[in-house]
Amino acid sequence: MLDKRKFYINGQWVDPSQPNDLEVINPSTEEACAVISLGSQADTDAAVAAAKAAFIPWSETPKEERLAKVEKLADIYEARAEEMGQAISMEMGAPISMSKTAQQGSGSFHIRNFIRAFKKFEFERPLGPHAPNDRILYEPVGVCGLITPWNWPMNQVTLKVVPAVAVGCTVVLKPSEIAPLSSMLFAEFMDEAGFPAGVFNLVNGDGMGVGTQLSGHEDVDMISFTGSTRAGIAISKNAADTVKRVALELGGKGANVIFADADEKAVKRGAMHCFNNSGQSCNAPTRMLVESSIYDDAVESAKQAAEATAVDLSDKEGRHIGPVVSEAQYNKIQGLIEKGIEEGATLVAGGPGRPAGLNKGYFVRPTVFADVTEDMTIAREEIFGPVLSIMKFDTEEEAVKVANNTVYGLTNYVQTQDPARLRRMARRLRSGMVEMNGQARGAGAPFGGYKQSGNGREGGVWGLEDFLEVKSVSGWSDD
Ligand code: NAD
Repeated sequence: MLDKRKFYINGQWVDPSQPNDLEVINPSTEEACAVISLGSQADTDAAVAAAKAAFIPWSETPKEERLAKVEKLADIYEARAEEMGQAISMEMGAPISMSKTAQQGSGSFHIRNFIRAFKKFEFERPLGPHAPNDRILYEPVGVCGLITPWNWPMNQVTLKVVPAVAVGCTVVLKPSEIAPLSSMLFAEFMDEAGFPAGVFNLVNGDGMGVGTQLSGHEDVDMISFTGSTRAGIAISKNAADTVKRVALELGGKGANVIFADADEKAVKRGAMHCFNNSGQSCNAPTRMLVESSIYDDAVESAKQAAEATAVDLSDKEGRHIGPVVSEAQYNKIQGLIEKGIEEGATLVAGGPGRPAGLNKGYFVRPTVFADVTEDMTIAREEIFGPVLSIMKFDTEEEAVKVANNTVYGLTNYVQTQDPARLRRMARRLRSGMVEMNGQARGAGAPFGGYKQSGNGREGGVWGLEDFLEVKSVSGWSDD
């Protein structure tokens, strides 16, 4: 078992101020694979103090020097990609083939995109020709507490740490206590890249401990959080007393609207997207809205897609899906599947219990419900498991209404060959992202939600701006 009890504070690996062990469980085996420490107030204070002391010198370091460190980080990340893939797979159960590609790859993808955006970013700009002596200065917000979840660990860590340190902030990262190993490896990369002591700090802990200590800390200027809407609300409330900036990336209940003229692979693609990462993606298309004339065929295709989705151990190579992350998530998903049956949805694939042949590990059967209605729990709540809910619609108007009938607003999807309809739908869907006909968003596109899916935007230029203050200066002179 790996001993990962130390924290990374002020450029050193240090012991926790008091022992408080937590085992990291491999979700395929239900066995402990590592032990970490949960931090206490003294550890949080030490990390925040280090970040505070490092802030002014780091923020005044020339842009080119900060860029050079981030470029070095990108090279190290790519050179050690194999280790990163292993760590993610072990801690959160992504199948190793997917972990070595999509999971770890999301990290290098974001680092490279930020480098591109950062190079072009103008930190000092004129207000406009009408005010020649006005300057707008973009300045780092200060000490940032970064709190991340377990489902796409390096995706979320790089979306926060990299823009924050690039623009001159200093940070304390508190990764998910359920999947902390990838972040501890990432801390090694930051150390090797040579960021000055205190610029990047890592303290492990849980939400009630280090998470709450960071959100309430008077020396933390900003919290950037990705996780559940429940925790996002708690963080916002706790951060209010110190009026810190709070950027939130929260849950989702994405609609995938499939019109009768959609391409023939649309249903299969949508179902597979829902099951990807065992359904543990905030932007998963979990509500499939199907036009009534193709409804029966769509239900059949989704059933086939579920039955063709293999479930297996995370250390096996292949295109299967792995377990869900924890016993708590497993039980929550099972409860929601039961609820779907109880409330009258038609179970067409999967269902309660583990897949055949897997008697240990948090494995869930890829599950499809048809005839789901808007009032059912499985149409409203984020399940965060491989569970698809199919609903029927007759008109475009109705599809928009049902798609928008959710507290969430992260990503919606549309499948149709009619370009005018695509444009109408893109404008009317109330979400931070709309993806059409299976086309993924481009590099550097902003990621974030409307409504209870959050408020910030991560990635590219928008991701840099999240960590910047805007200063307005008049009477400026270039002489
Ligand atoms: P979670 O909210 O329980 O935990 C996320 C992180 O917040 C962890 O590090 C946890 O320790 C910490 N935390 C929990 N309660 C806290 C509190 N009161 N104060 C401070 N920190 C606290 O979520 P999870 O179960 O780890 O992740 C799954 C959730 O994350 C899902 O709801 C999913 O939709 C969401 N998510 C959203 C995005 C996005 O970008 N919108 C991306 C990934 C995951």
